[in-house]
Amino acid sequence: MMESKCLECDAKMKINDDAIVGEIISCPDCGADYEVASLGNGTVTIKVAESVKEDWGE
Ligand SMILES: [Zn+2]
Repeated sequence: MMESKCLECDAKMKINDDAIVGEIISCPDCGADYEVASLGNGTVTIKVAESVKEDWGE
């Protein structure tokens, strides 16, 4: 199990060892969605997930 930190509220987020790049992680505290950006030896880098609901305004 790896851990990362929510960028919004600093809550710890647990990430499975079998997580893959592109997997979406949701913060258990504030519900923010993050995407696994890269994986290394026991470390994980996350980035804010792109919203899939951004097709308004066209
Ligand atoms: Zn959070």
